[in-house]
Order: sequence, then structure tokens, then C-alpha cells
Amino acid sequence: MSDAAATLDTNASVKAVPVSARRTVCYQFDTTASKAKTLALPYLVVIDGKIQNGGKARTLDISRQIKLNVATGSKVALYLNSDVHPNSRQYPVYEVEVGEHDVLVNIVEKKGQFSDLKPVVGKPEFRPSNSRVACYQASLTGNIWQMVSHRYTEAEANSLMPDETPAVVRDAVCSIYRGLPGAMLKIANHKNKDTGALVVQFQRSGNAEENIKNCSLMKDVLPRTHPCAFAALFSAACTVGIDEILVTSTWRPMHGSILHRAGLGLDITTIRDADGKVQINREGLTEPGQSKNPNVSDLEKDLYTQSQKASKAKDNKSSNDSSELLNKWKAQVEKSDPKLMRKLREALGKEKSIKQIFDPWYMEVNTNNGQIVANAQITSNEKIHDNHLHLTIWEHNIYE
Ligand SMILES: [Zn+2]
Repeated sequence: MSDAAATLDTNASVKAVPVSARRTVCYQFDTTASKAKTLALPYLVVIDGKIQNGGKARTLDISRQIKLNVATGSKVALYLNSDVHPNSRQYPVYEVEVGEHDVLVNIVEKKGQFSDLKPVVGKPEFRPSNSRVACYQASLTGNIWQMVSHRYTEAEANSLMPDETPAVVRDAVCSIYRGLPGAMLKIANHKNKDTGALVVQFQRSGNAEENIKNCSLMKDVLPRTHPCAFAALFSAACTVGIDEILVTSTWRPMHGSILHRAGLGLDITTIRDADGKVQINREGLTEPGQSKNPNVSDLEKDLYTQSQKASKAKDNKSSNDSSELLNKWKAQVEKSDPKLMRKLREALGKEKSIKQIFDPWYMEVNTNNGQIVANAQITSNEKIHDNHLHLTIWEHNIYE
């Protein structure tokens, strides 16, 4: 290159190139009100009407923050919970228009009935300590949880259920989304030798009622639960000839893990067949003294306590004793597992929609890898499931 070519042309005019200014936007969530400090809430970001991340939902991590960098003038909003599903996305919430300042939106979960509070950010405030940031306050109430929890229609239920769903089960599940007249469902089933039917009872949803005004179990709660959860449970229950089943929790807005809040979980406490009732409960295994629970024998409690003690000791002899005692305890778990419970668990494991099966006897975190462990009531997930059967279904478009 010659020197001449590198010389700036003195006649060139100065041209202004517009560089749009960028601002940071931070959504910050506080879900401690429902004792779920690290709640893995599914979300999608929408900027100027465009869904980000190729439409793939993320989940809120332990930072509790969604941090973005956007052009000044952008409008930012979120899809939350089961509303992230491509077939839902009805309610963009907490929309904010980004002006000259960086933005912080502080969203705090609030228990109780606050039907007047909407998912909006209101007016910004500026803190003297950092006047460059526009701070907004917003609430996450039971009504807002209800809004961002998809309510399935009968047509959706019908198309979501697996093809192999028996016709009687399909009809029963559809009736839930049409609106049940009462908290009960009767499914004709020839495998029930004594009654010829499976009766499903639904317990009132205390958590939804406490946090949503005029909340109806039949209209608001049951249809926010994924149809495949009901289809899998009823199909398995029919296969093993269950006469009666008590479903204690389905969708619920402000309690426990995201699975129930996103409508992907079901809880069952009682099952019955011609041979009798099974109370799905093994509370008291870890408590000292004699057993008060018919599903936990004194021998099992003794072996459990000894194996736990030995597992805490550090020497080699104790570790050998510990594994021997642990195996003896596991044999007692197997022995106490009611026949009907075992049959139901196995039938549920064969349902393609089911991802997780947790109960007081056994825990299966992922039905795809087939690993089932005895419930030792040590981890918080094990402890929670000492008094009911929980099912989670697969729905990659909401939560993985
Ligand atoms: Zn559950």
C-alpha cells in the first residue's frame, strides 16, 4: 500500500453512525413467602414481542435473577410457569419499557388473597445510592400464579393423551376439562371384580383456596393439571384393578416444588382394591420408640436405626456392618411394601408419560434409567414423600 492511499482524504465529510444505547434489565424474584427460596420457575423472555432463546424455556436458577442487556426503548416482558409452552404463551407479564436508565424489577411472592394485584411493574423509584437504576416493585400472588398456569381445554386434553389410553380413561380425563359436577369421577373397569369401576376422589385444594379468591377445585384447579398425569394414573389404576383412589393434590399455586405449580405433579394418599385399603404412609420410621405405623415394623425400625448408626462410624468394621444392616433394612422395606402398592408402582413405571415416582417405600427420580432406591427418609425429597405417592410427568416444553 502506498503512503498516499493511507492518507486521510481531507475532503471527506464526517458521517454520524447511530449506535443505539444499551441498558441492563434485571428481573429479581423472591419466592420465600411460599418457603421456596430456590424455586425453579420456568420462564421465557420477550423483547419487543420477540420470544428469546429460540423459544426454549429456561428455569430460574439460585441467583433468582434474569439479567438482560437491551436497546433503549425496548419493551421487555416474561412468560412464566406453564405459560411458557409453545401452545400457551397467553399472558406476557411484568412488562417494562426501557428508557434512559438501567432497570431492576423486584418481584415478591405474596401469600393470601390479593385478586386486585396485577402482574405489572407500576412506577419506577430511584434510590439515592444508585440513581442510574429505575427500580420497580411487583407482586406474585395466587391469582397471578393462576394466570400463568395453563388451563387445559377438553380438546387439548384429548390430543395430549397417548394414543394407547383406554377409551374409558380418555372419556374420564376429558370430563375433567369439560368441568366435573362434583369432586368425584367413576370409571367403568371390568378388572374391578367386586365393583366393576374405579372411583377417583379429589380432595379440596387448601393452598389454592387460601391464595385465590373464589377458587373452584373443579373449574380452576383440576383443569390446570396436565391431562397426561390423570391419564397415566387412571390407566395404571385400572390395569391393577384398583376400586378407589384418593388424589390429594394436583395443580397448586403456592406450595412446594415447581412440579405441582406447573401442573406436572399428582399426589395420592389412599388406594383400595377388593383385598382392602392401603394407606400410603410410612411416617415414624426415623422416630425413636415403638412403631405406631402398621407399614413400619419394630424390627424394621431397629435395623434402620442400627444401619444409620453404623454408617456414621468411620472404621472398617462399622462400614462392613453398615452395608450388611442396610441390606437387612432394605429387605424389610420390600416385605412391608403392600402388594397393591407394588402392582400400582410397576404399572405406573410402564406409563410413557411418567417421569418420576416417589412414595414412602421407593423413590424413582427418572423412569428412563430405571434406578429405584428405598426411601430412607434422609433427604428432604425423601422426607416429604413419607406419607403419599407423588407422580411427575414429562413435559420438556415446560420443565426438564
Ligand atoms: Zn407431589
